[in-house]
Amino acid sequence: MNHHPARDRLRAGVHGRPPLPARLEHWMFALLSDPDACEALLAEHGSPVNVIEPGKLPRNAAELVDAGARHGVEVGVFFARKANKALALVRAASDAGHGVDVASESELRQVLDAGVPGERVILSAAIKPDALLELAVRSGTTVSVDGPAELERVAAVASSAEAVARVAPRVAPSPATGLPPTRFGVLTSAWAQVDWARVPAVQVVGVHAHLHGYAAADRVAVLGECLPLVDALRAAGHPVGFVDLGGGVPMSYLADRAVWHGFWAAMTSGNRDEAITWKDHPLGTVYPYWQEPVRGGWLDGLLALPLADGSGTAASGLASRGLRLHLEPGRSLLDGCGLTLARVAFTKERSDGVGLVGLEMNRTQCRSTSDDFLVDPVLVRRGAAGDAYDGFLVGAYCIEDELILRRRMWFPEGVAAGDIIALPNTGGYLMHILESASHQIPLARNVVPGPDGWELDAIDRPA
Ligand SMILES: *Cc1c(COP(=O)(O)O)cnc(C)c1O
Repeated sequence: MNHHPARDRLRAGVHGRPPLPARLEHWMFALLSDPDACEALLAEHGSPVNVIEPGKLPRNAAELVDAGARHGVEVGVFFARKANKALALVRAASDAGHGVDVASESELRQVLDAGVPGERVILSAAIKPDALLELAVRSGTTVSVDGPAELERVAAVASSAEAVARVAPRVAPSPATGLPPTRFGVLTSAWAQVDWARVPAVQVVGVHAHLHGYAAADRVAVLGECLPLVDALRAAGHPVGFVDLGGGVPMSYLADRAVWHGFWAAMTSGNRDEAITWKDHPLGTVYPYWQEPVRGGWLDGLLALPLADGSGTAASGLASRGLRLHLEPGRSLLDGCGLTLARVAFTKERSDGVGLVGLEMNRTQCRSTSDDFLVDPVLVRRGAAGDAYDGFLVGAYCIEDELILRRRMWFPEGVAAGDIIALPNTGGYLMHILESASHQIPLARNVVPGPDGWELDAIDRPA
């Protein structure tokens, strides 16, 4: 790992066992090295507060565009907004020339109101009421259509709006690819049944697929199914310009492969106990918090993979047809763009003596579909160092298993009420995707850089 003494000192205040030290961007290091600035944010906005710094989003997107260029493929990046609701991120993506992937009417309306042209928006909502379809059609937003029945609804909405809908049929990979079944899209064989030359008020501008997981080979398998569909759609007169392979572009939260493998060696060692996780939880479903390659390197590998029909590589299949490759990364575009601050409310012991550290936040404010966020927090100490302490971070919901993190945390120089815990790199999903306001506790506020320091994001300002 790239050791930096000041960062190591900052990270020494708290760690799991074995430790999983976070990668820290410079802005995170600067903020977390300033306890008064952290305390001022909590005093003004309450705890927890989501701190969002969009500065790294253009860098992350450029890695994908540059990788495409190396293979002669034009890449269009569409920020998957469901990964974080802050409007500053939409602006950062748009200002850098990228598009946005939206999943609801509010998301679409806000993006259009922010000045993003409909041509740079794709609607991939799982459920699309007529009002949403109408807004999409009128604004020129591309609609990812989930099947022939939805295509008919889009055509009807467009006809009555006297508009032409821009659509991208969503493809589900066939069982022959060996990929798991999916609720999204339909097989290319089902799309082939549509009489594309006769669908009224609809223009097919692309073909869409989004797969679970992060495997480049899976995406090339579905690309191999999309290309013949593109050829058939063009033969029916449609101006198909892109294949959209969705999200799932990988990222890494940890700098070091060795700590990740060390952690799993301990988890599977056979003498695992509550020294590692709450009630010895096995952490069955977790994001690969360390992985390689990521973003640009990953796309390089993907584009060089051969297509199953032997006609060439993913890159040549796209380039020979003059197709752009669209991607809809959420999490990996937000790498380095956010952290969560929470105040320590108390330390106490569970009835059997196990240490507890109460935080002014609830577990939905740092949760994704993963069983745990496997990244060590950072302690921002407000008082003097004390005796070593260890225990579990518990939150505000009145539930026994209300854990902010399931790993036991070790504080070599103690922790006390009034200290601050920072959860680094929470920008992608961890802040909002499962957040709830149970017990009538308000949702966390979101701050972004402004001309006079951190200010509320537009999503939290009344219109
Ligand atoms: C969730 C989602 C994404 C973003 O996925 P990431 O893993 O965050 O990159 C992109 N497209 C669609 C259709 C999605 O549902």
